[in-house]
Amino acid sequence: MTINFTMSDEQKKLQHEVRAFAENVLKPVVAAADAEPDPLKGFQMTKPAYVEAYKAGIAMCMLPKAYGGGGVSCVDLTIAAEELCVVDPGFACTVLCNGLGLMPIAWYGSDEQKDRFLRAATSDPTGEYLGGWTASEPPGNPAGTANFDIPLPRPAGVGLIAERDGDHFVVNGRKYWPSSAGWDERGVNAGTLIVRSDPDKGGTEGLSALVLERDTPGVTYHTLDKTGHRLASNAEIVFEDARIPATNLLPGAEGNGDLVINRNFAWSGPIAAIAAVGMARAAYEMALEFARGNTAGALKPIIGFQNVGYVLGDVAAKIEMGRYFSWRAADYLDKHDQHAELVGAMNKIQVTEMMFDCVYKCMQIVGVNSLERKAGFGKILREASVLPIYDGGNMGMQRRRVHGILADPLFNPRAIMEDEYVEFGKHHETIDTVVV
Ligand SMILES: Cc1cc2nc3c(=O)[nH]c(=O)nc-3n(C[C@H](O)[C@H](O)[C@H](O)COP(=O)(O)OP(=O)(O)OC[C@H]3O[C@@H](n4cnc5c(N)ncnc54)[C@H](O)[C@@H]3O)c2cc1C
Repeated sequence: MTINFTMSDEQKKLQHEVRAFAENVLKPVVAAADAEPDPLKGFQMTKPAYVEAYKAGIAMCMLPKAYGGGGVSCVDLTIAAEELCVVDPGFACTVLCNGLGLMPIAWYGSDEQKDRFLRAATSDPTGEYLGGWTASEPPGNPAGTANFDIPLPRPAGVGLIAERDGDHFVVNGRKYWPSSAGWDERGVNAGTLIVRSDPDKGGTEGLSALVLERDTPGVTYHTLDKTGHRLASNAEIVFEDARIPATNLLPGAEGNGDLVINRNFAWSGPIAAIAAVGMARAAYEMALEFARGNTAGALKPIIGFQNVGYVLGDVAAKIEMGRYFSWRAADYLDKHDQHAELVGAMNKIQVTEMMFDCVYKCMQIVGVNSLERKAGFGKILREASVLPIYDGGNMGMQRRRVHGILADPLFNPRAIMEDEYVEFGKHHETIDTVVV
């Protein structure tokens, strides 16, 4: 029987190596970087650990081996990511954004572009190289991100306009939230930028993807301050007649920026899910230790109380459910050319929301002492609250993708269990975008 949930020796070695990195290199910088009031400074405090991660092959492990990357499978990436996320999912988000920013070049770029950008990403002697994924836009009326595929021309949908001018695109507009500001707000080295290449067309025809490079004239970055993932950088990005070479257009993504968004946020689904598993695991292990060592005024530790045992038992089981669903979704990506638009969304939605509840249940079990800042539950709750909302929010983006596929009369409801490839297409998009 092929299904085998036992990790190979290589996978165990990978898990232990990343766990050692997380414990010995990352953990010592987390508290201070998280507490740093200046978000850019907080991010910069993670640079030494990031350089170590780069040199250890963690930072670019998802990129193809042919271009100097680790070439790890999505399953292996998920196993490694859990070990980083249990210590700090914000730092792991910086590594994740290398994938979100550079994998579209591997999927939709020309051989020349792959050579130019992916080789540079995997051969940086400083170890500071960052990739970035620049899709999200600021809130407003009309503005925002979730309905990027709305079948209407501007002002609906993506507002960053790219107009061809000879051998360049002239880009105007704003992005909001991307982890693309870089170590010094001059931009990450290179990454994928979603633009409106035809404002007169809707989101399923009018979007394309360009490679945005560091120090592009006309682009300014301002780091955002946020409640969770404070070790990751997020920025407002303003484009004023920014000029991007036409040779940075990803040929496979011309008019298909919508498919890039859906594939990318599906590819990262299991990583967001395992990040949530990491947060719940941290809370569970702390709550169990507390329950075994504290009596709450009774004579024996509270683990002896039925409710404490029942709740922590449920949490432990849900963590296992979340982990194996994430492995399964990653396995599906590996089996289907890194496409999992359906199961990637399902996995991210269900596990991130279930794990948030698990973290809070652990706090309830520990009780009032979970609310003391030094206990650490407050940070875990802040981090866990990010995961259902980031990486393509569960409500406005991930569930819509699932709905679009289920609404397809040709969709086979047993597709995932039968390991059938569910081909995602433009006919699955635009659903729930027009409020009547
Ligand atoms: C730590 C962190 C890192 C991030 N990194 C990046 C990055 O690298 N690159 C990047 O581009 N973005 C990044 N983001 C942004 C992230 O990807 C968001 O998930 C994305 O911007 C979409 O947010 P949203 O789903 O809330 O959409 P919004 O457009 O802001 O929608 C707001 C809310 O409206 C509701 N809504 C909207 N439309 C519908 C609908 N049709 N049906 C039902 N409800 C609807 C939903 O409740 C939705 O949450 C990051 C965010 C964080 C917190």
